[in-house]
Amino acid sequence: MYWEESKECISREDLEQLQLERLQSTLYRVATHVPFYRSKFKEMQIDPDGFRSLEELRNLPFTTKDDLRDNYPYGLFAVPLREIVRVHSSSGTTGMATVVGYTKNDIKNWADLVARVLTAAGLTKDDVIQIAFGYGLFTGGFGLHYGAERMGASVIPISSGNTKRQIQIMQDFKTTALVCTPSYALMMADTMLDLGIDISSLSLKFGLFGAEPWSEEMRAEIQEKLGIRATDNYGLSEVMGPGVAGECEECNGLHINEDHFLVEVVDPDTFEPVPPGEIGELVITTLTKEAFPVIRYRTRDLTRILPEPCPCGRTLQRMSRVLGRTDDMLIIKGVNVFPTQIESILFDIEGTEPHYRIIVEREDHQDKATVMVEVVESIFFDEMRKQRELIDHIKRRLASELGISVDVKLVEEKTLERFEGKGKRVIDKREF
Ligand SMILES: [Zn+2]
Repeated sequence: MYWEESKECISREDLEQLQLERLQSTLYRVATHVPFYRSKFKEMQIDPDGFRSLEELRNLPFTTKDDLRDNYPYGLFAVPLREIVRVHSSSGTTGMATVVGYTKNDIKNWADLVARVLTAAGLTKDDVIQIAFGYGLFTGGFGLHYGAERMGASVIPISSGNTKRQIQIMQDFKTTALVCTPSYALMMADTMLDLGIDISSLSLKFGLFGAEPWSEEMRAEIQEKLGIRATDNYGLSEVMGPGVAGECEECNGLHINEDHFLVEVVDPDTFEPVPPGEIGELVITTLTKEAFPVIRYRTRDLTRILPEPCPCGRTLQRMSRVLGRTDDMLIIKGVNVFPTQIESILFDIEGTEPHYRIIVEREDHQDKATVMVEVVESIFFDEMRKQRELIDHIKRRLASELGISVDVKLVEEKTLERFEGKGKRVIDKREF
């Protein structure tokens, strides 16, 4: 099942022609209406009318989160405010917030692209979709909401939080698909276990999770605990919100909506493109956005392109699940580590629970990392020797697979904080 077969199964040749035409009109749009790009192009002696091939994208300047902040709130809008029908904003947890806008047409495209993602995951208009992403300035809630309505599904706009009520509604309203962050899905699953709810009494079949990096092992855990198929979807408010890419029923990488987004994967240090299949930072150029087009936006998300064709028939290229953000990458004693790598190992070890925290400190000018992990009750109250064995086992796996030596601390079940939105796995107490 496809939402827009003519686009999702387009030939490479036709796609590239379409991308080029759309890139040309986007460049014209930003050069004409956005002073930031106009002066950048002038400075770099770029003629926006002279673009003849997609290869030339490499000559264009990058756009960064700082550029968005410097132009707060409306400096990068390419249309006057009277044409804007919606404004969203990022939370600004790491500094000043960024603001993005949408025209009527942008909202329409957004809904269609999210409908593609929902359809690819196996949903239809017969589904009852519980959207437990936060509604508000964050793009997650509204983005999924409009896409689900566009598809004709029944939407329950419950927003995030109030877990017990979420579960009650899931039972009473016969929810078939749950939309939220993977950490919140896990929290709901655990709460159901505590309440003694038999998951086979639910109507739940699908879970669409996004907005934070998660591991394959976490997928397996959620699928088992909720009895669903869990798919990953990707987006970020700076380029639109959810709907940039999503997994099909193969559950093996996310198809990128390449007719609307031109993607590159670059080395985060040199900014040179990496060979296909290699990991690098995802860079996105919007091709159809009217209100807020961005050129070569550095997402800080690390992924790789999966060049092999997908059995589902979609020709849009796939990217791997996001492995982490360049911002989240921990450098522990000079070794690069992502929280999701630690997560994969913990999930694989018998007796540990899928809840963990990584604490990094500096002691005597040395990095010191501690992984706190919840363990099942039987182990927590077990004799010291058995606990010691488990700790050594985790340490050995982390050392051999990631090349880092860390302290491991076992904690009792349900002692680490749970998250209703994006999880916070790392506490970095070092001062830089
Ligand atoms: Zn596919």
